[in-house]
Amino acid sequence: MKEKYDIILRPKKEESLRRFHPWVFSGAIAKMPQGIKEGDIVKVFSANEEFLGIGHYQIGSISVRILSFLDEAIDVDFYVRQISSAYKMRTEIGLSRADNNTFRLVHGEGDFLPGLIVDIYGKTAVIQAHSVGMDTDKEKIVAALQQVIGAEKLENIYYKSEGTLPFKADIESTDEYLVGGKSTDYIAVENGLKFNIDWLRGQKTGFFVDQRENRRLLEKYAIGKTVLNMFCYTGGFSVYALRGGAKSVHSVDSSAKAVSLTDENVKLNFENDTRHTSFSEDAFKFLKESVTDTYDLIILDPPAFAKHRGAINNALQGYKRLNLAALEKIKSGGILFTFSCSQVISKEQFRLAVFSAAAISGRKVRILHQLTQPADHPINIYHPEGEYLKGLVLFVE
Ligand code: SAH
Repeated sequence: MKEKYDIILRPKKEESLRRFHPWVFSGAIAKMPQGIKEGDIVKVFSANEEFLGIGHYQIGSISVRILSFLDEAIDVDFYVRQISSAYKMRTEIGLSRADNNTFRLVHGEGDFLPGLIVDIYGKTAVIQAHSVGMDTDKEKIVAALQQVIGAEKLENIYYKSEGTLPFKADIESTDEYLVGGKSTDYIAVENGLKFNIDWLRGQKTGFFVDQRENRRLLEKYAIGKTVLNMFCYTGGFSVYALRGGAKSVHSVDSSAKAVSLTDENVKLNFENDTRHTSFSEDAFKFLKESVTDTYDLIILDPPAFAKHRGAINNALQGYKRLNLAALEKIKSGGILFTFSCSQVISKEQFRLAVFSAAAISGRKVRILHQLTQPADHPINIYHPEGEYLKGLVLFVE
């Protein structure tokens, strides 16, 4: 049955939806209902008027983000079903533990909820909407979170979507506590290490949850090493390196606020540890001025150099330049952890940029590990675009 808000696709444009890809591009649409508003729930039909899916409408190249391929209501119960499936997966694989209460509960398309991110820090959930529809549905999402996790276990639910919603969207949305708000900072635990999470002022939801497993791998290599953690933000890699027995750790970030967060987190775990020093400086400048053969272990985890397709070429040059600078400085027998979190850059493109840097440096380089995002940032098999974090661990002679 077709209803008020029906979208009809052009002939043959239903193929990707039949393969459960959750996006409808604007060019695929033949007919739009009158009076449709951003954030509305719409049903999508093929040119033959067969039901394909239901989702959130938005102005832009992705017109509909499909929430379900069944003709079902998008109500609190729907969000309860989706979020409990996400929660069950995290608890079953052992991510929600006393010594690890920091994890991503909902990862957009990866958890069949396009446009929605929810990160958990102990008794706090931070919600981020990347679509107008998820902004519109935030009360339903809060109700569902409380049902799934239990209202008593969730003291705070903070909504933080400034900068993630489309710039031109005709909505007024502010970052605010939807539940709680008495405690504004929180010490969360990741693999037994403590981090002070500042979701009000920090980047993203306050912490980069996606490097948990890669930090743990770094910890294993850190013993006795002189470590340089570039783009340290809240110091995740630095704190793991210190626990792993590093001889010394230098943390670098251009943001003074990030550097002070790193210092705080080091102190929280290792009071008065003289092995750690931090620098508020530009990464390229720092590498250029650093003394060759100082570092055994270097981490390069920069922000996304390409946020859209038009920026890919410049971004690849940026990755090449950055990796070259590190490869020129690292000690022989050193290990380089290098990452890209740009969604529009493929694994192959990133590897080629690092390969070019290695070739220019002329050093002997072997790949020890190829890294990606952790299990709480799953990739929906029908939505390969969800694979965004790429990393290489290189042994450099
Ligand atoms: N590795 C971090 C996350 C890095 S986020 C973690 O594990 O949590 C990227 C960081 O790079 C941000 O903190 C940002 O302030 C910093 N940054 C951006 N441009 C920079 C530059 N040119 N030099 C140094 N730091 C930079």
